[in-house]
Amino acid sequence: MDHGLRRQRLLERCSELDVDGFLVTRLANVRYLTGFTGSNGQLLLGREGAAFVTDGRYTEQSRREVPDLERFTAQRLADPLLDWCRGAEIRRLAFEAEEVTVARHEDLVDKLPDVTLVASRSVVEGLRWSKDADELVLLRAAQRVTDDAFDDVLDRLAVGLTERQVALDVEMALRRHGADAQAFDPIVAFGEQAAEPHHSPGRRILEEGDLIKMDFGAVVDGYHADMTRTVAFGAPAPELRKIHDVVRQAQEAGIDAVRAGVGGAEVDAVARHVIADAGYGDRFTHGLGHGVGLEIHEGPGLGATTEDVLPVGAVVTVEPGVYVPGLGGVRIEDMVEVTADGCEVLGTSNRELIEL
Ligand code: ZN
Ligand code: ZN
Repeated sequence: MDHGLRRQRLLERCSELDVDGFLVTRLANVRYLTGFTGSNGQLLLGREGAAFVTDGRYTEQSRREVPDLERFTAQRLADPLLDWCRGAEIRRLAFEAEEVTVARHEDLVDKLPDVTLVASRSVVEGLRWSKDADELVLLRAAQRVTDDAFDDVLDRLAVGLTERQVALDVEMALRRHGADAQAFDPIVAFGEQAAEPHHSPGRRILEEGDLIKMDFGAVVDGYHADMTRTVAFGAPAPELRKIHDVVRQAQEAGIDAVRAGVGGAEVDAVARHVIADAGYGDRFTHGLGHGVGLEIHEGPGLGATTEDVLPVGAVVTVEPGVYVPGLGGVRIEDMVEVTADGCEVLGTSNRELIEL
């Protein structure tokens, strides 16, 4: 990973924002710009150089992970920040408005009377939209683990298991196949429970004829995978089979519509149209997808109201769903890499209705 190059790109944005420095506090952004993987780290970036601030738990780790930056260990960010701003002659310092709390902002204003704090939004997040070659390798690795885990879990589904037991099995399969962590707590929903898009696994027992909706993913070296499959355990009700077919067609239409330069709203509309045409328009109750990377949900978004435009190298999910209370629900989700003339689906798991 070329963290120096990434910091250089942020410096270019600093000129556009008319600031001399940038205080990065959002952990995923700090990791992106420095390589630091701990739970407390801040980056101070200026034209004369950059510095990294952490607390005593991470002094050693940061020596190893952030060898190329000046490092400070401090209980409070404000102390080294004050000296650094003076040394680097920072007069206008950008901070991340979506991350800095009101209390911390008050502290900073207090500690830095000579510095104008400039609120910024989604600056580093925007740099993260397009993945570089190293990131794409890790996203593919995370997807591979997720595909392997899915295969594994299918073999063990049996009447009488609870959603929670299957969720635990998903977690163990991800770990066994090489995940560093889970991208999020898996969603496992049987039968009518699948009508909730983000159902939390409970004590519902698997029965013959249930659809099983599973949404899960691996983390590999900080990069997340996100995949949903809905499979049938025994023969499903005809309407559920039809819904699966509609969702699969909507996903295919959505994937076909993805390419660089297209708006996220446009792709959403294409998939939504397929579902509306089949009479389930009001049952597709969320956006079509989201970017994935160092965070499970990041930009660019695919949804009815977004103004995001897909760049080359973005990795986004395409995940239409139909949810019918009392009956059940289907979602099919894959990550795709946006290319100049289309996209590449990262996952290899079967998207047709698998009947076990
Ligand atoms: Zn998902
Ligand atoms: Zn998702």
